Amino acid sequence: MTDRESTTRVIYLGGLGRSGTTLLERLLGELPGVVALGEVVHLWERGVLAGELCGCGVAFPDCPFWRQVGERAFGGWSQALAGKVLTLRRRVDRTRRIARIAHPDLAEYVQAYRLLYEAAGAPVVIDSSKHASLACCLVAAGVDVRIVHVVRDPRAVAHSWARTVRRPEDGQPMTRWRPAHTAVHWTAQNAALELLPGRGARVTRVRYEDLLAAPGPTLTSLALGLGLAEPELPFLEGRTAWLGPSHTASGNPMRFHVGRIELRRDDAWVTGLRDGDRRVVNALTWPLRARYGYRGLA
Ligand SMILES: [Zn+2]
Repeated sequence: MTDRESTTRVIYLGGLGRSGTTLLERLLGELPGVVALGEVVHLWERGVLAGELCGCGVAFPDCPFWRQVGERAFGGWSQALAGKVLTLRRRVDRTRRIARIAHPDLAEYVQAYRLLYEAAGAPVVIDSSKHASLACCLVAAGVDVRIVHVVRDPRAVAHSWARTVRRPEDGQPMTRWRPAHTAVHWTAQNAALELLPGRGARVTRVRYEDLLAAPGPTLTSLALGLGLAEPELPFLEGRTAWLGPSHTASGNPMRFHVGRIELRRDDAWVTGLRDGDRRVVNALTWPLRARYGYRGLA
């Protein structure tokens, strides 16, 4: 792997799962010059090794987009490459390392991402890997990256993680978490993302609820804040969006959606989350919950 100047700008979406990162990625991916890659951190295992579906509905190894990216970046995908990146990831890309990211293998680990981003062939790529630790690695290694920290009411997130959802990739149920477990992770992941500005990262925070309340203005102000040219949003009309196919390597089931979609806030937790669970989540997510403005009922 060679070390050279990158011209690709990266928008990295951070946050706990079920916070709206996939939706935001799909919407940003409709902007001209922007390509959504999905959760690249999982591409090595789920795409390269397991051959799971790309967002376009074709198995990763057969997707023409990813085939070309692999050729350009690495001379083709291989088990050895994926294994190497996963080994480096275990050494370097750990949440507990955020406080002290200097690691001898950091440059080699990040170079795999850098080559992949560049090979996507777009001025701007989106990586919705979500983890604060990978964001920290990218920043520490000098990647031109802007972090978008997506937050959502922890009670809604807890309710979502407690539901049964099938993975379109293999029909298996997605991981379920008890609300208390989700609350602990919500606090940990958001607290880790809060550390990033202190590591030199440029971070913009977006609330899922604001995106759904006013999709157009929220996307416009986000895009301008990220330094994207005056964005045009022909794919958006009020709360209706039209999504084209995407080649997201991994992510939640929404990544497969093509066509019209109604942008409606999911408030099922208001009636669906039991009082006891709500009290536990409220207690375990304080004070970050208040910092993000999630005080009242909904
Ligand atoms: Zn594809």
